[in-house]
Amino acid sequence: MKTIKSKILLTYVGVTILALVLSWFFTSIRISDYLEGLTKERIKSATRQIVNYLVSDSIDNYNNLYNKIKIISSLNDTRITLIDSVGKVWCDSDIDIEKIDTVENHKNREEIVNARNNHYGFSKRFSHTVHKWMIYYAEYYENPLHIGDKKIYYIRTSIPIITINRLGTEIKFILGISAILSLIIIFVTSLQISEWMTKPLKNLKDFALDLKNGFYKRRFHVDKKDEIGILAETLNQLAESIENEKSEVERLESIKKEFITNLMHELRTPLFVIESSLETLQNMNFADIEKVKEFVGKASNQTKRLHKVVDNLILISKLRTGEQVVNLRSLKATDFIKKIYDDYKEIIEPKNIEFVLSINAPDDIKILGDKQLLSYALDNLLDNSIKYTQEKGKIELSLSTDDGHVVFIVSDTGKGISQNELKKITEYFYRPELDHNSKTGGAGLGLAVVKEIIRMHNGALIMESELSKGSKFGFKLSISK
Ligand code: ADP
Repeated sequence: MKTIKSKILLTYVGVTILALVLSWFFTSIRISDYLEGLTKERIKSATRQIVNYLVSDSIDNYNNLYNKIKIISSLNDTRITLIDSVGKVWCDSDIDIEKIDTVENHKNREEIVNARNNHYGFSKRFSHTVHKWMIYYAEYYENPLHIGDKKIYYIRTSIPIITINRLGTEIKFILGISAILSLIIIFVTSLQISEWMTKPLKNLKDFALDLKNGFYKRRFHVDKKDEIGILAETLNQLAESIENEKSEVERLESIKKEFITNLMHELRTPLFVIESSLETLQNMNFADIEKVKEFVGKASNQTKRLHKVVDNLILISKLRTGEQVVNLRSLKATDFIKKIYDDYKEIIEPKNIEFVLSINAPDDIKILGDKQLLSYALDNLLDNSIKYTQEKGKIELSLSTDDGHVVFIVSDTGKGISQNELKKITEYFYRPELDHNSKTGGAGLGLAVVKEIIRMHNGALIMESELSKGSKFGFKLSISK
């Protein structure tokens, strides 16, 4: 796998090498041009000196001329060629006297042609005569130079290009050294830059891998506001939401498990009583009518309890899924509560419990509600009060108003509930420890149903209680116009 670090490194080094090669290339061309220019100047002034020398000196024979030319040539590090009007080479410092006649006619050589046209001319080519790359310079004299007894029309000097290259090589060497140095510097700096850039990325990668492996509690320390900082912050938020989701899923899972366990228990207990009562009845002497009544009664009570559990569960489920439609109608609160009071008066008073109705609200006050469901809610609250209030106790059903709301309360002087229990009382199947297996205890679904009904009415549940003193359960709904 190619890491970002190595990619950055390669890119930096690659770009630097490319830049160096390009600058090397262009600098070389420039240097070569410059050196060529210098060489041309040099060859031009050298030629001037040579001409002056040759013209001023007295040369009596060819050998004498040849030797002189050779000396000047070696002093100036140049090749000197003397050419007559038709292009014949008459004397050349690099060619032996004996071979001079075999030299090719120079009339059409580029520098000679140029000189003929412009008085002087340059050219650059490989000399087959001396087997070297040369730069040539020629001057043309309309009035020929008189050297010895000869008339010289062209004088040509040349320098091997190797001279240029040698000077260039030194400069190129310096360039090469600085290229290597800059390459090292770039390598070290880019190594550090890539390290500096990729370190947070590497940490971020480790963090993301941790998240992938389920360590959702880990957080990335963000101290920068750059792209990496934003990415890290986003990953932190992601980890947090996953963590929350996970604990929510776990919570729901445990609620589900607890619900099923409680449900099984609530169904099994009455079924067991019903089953054993029926078995007892089967083997019973029916003459003992009191005993028969007792067991039929037991079976009947448990069937009712079972029925209630199932009814409550079905209602909660329907309300939650929306299958049970909430029929919101305008209800006159006073009429509604009076009707309930009348129904319960007959049930409560025979139990030797005082039952009071208190109305502290205008007679025509209205609410928007589902009459059936709200009655069911109040039924549950009243049933509880009856269950948990002893004889000579008091139950009060009240209606009042409070800041745009109608408040329904069932209060009793019953056994009350502790504050701790009160917090959990609306959970499914929840019943305080003391109530378990007691005759009074239902399945612990009544208040859960009330809560659901009030929620569907956008109302608020009211629960207040004090152990051994009594309780207040109720709800408030918005006043309707
Ligand atoms: P259940 O069907 O068992 O009555 P609820 O959800 O209606 O279930 O009530 C849950 C528990 O809350 C009851 O078991 C009881 O312990 C307590 N409770 C409810 N109402 C009262 C009340 N008025 N006085 C004392 N305890 C109450």
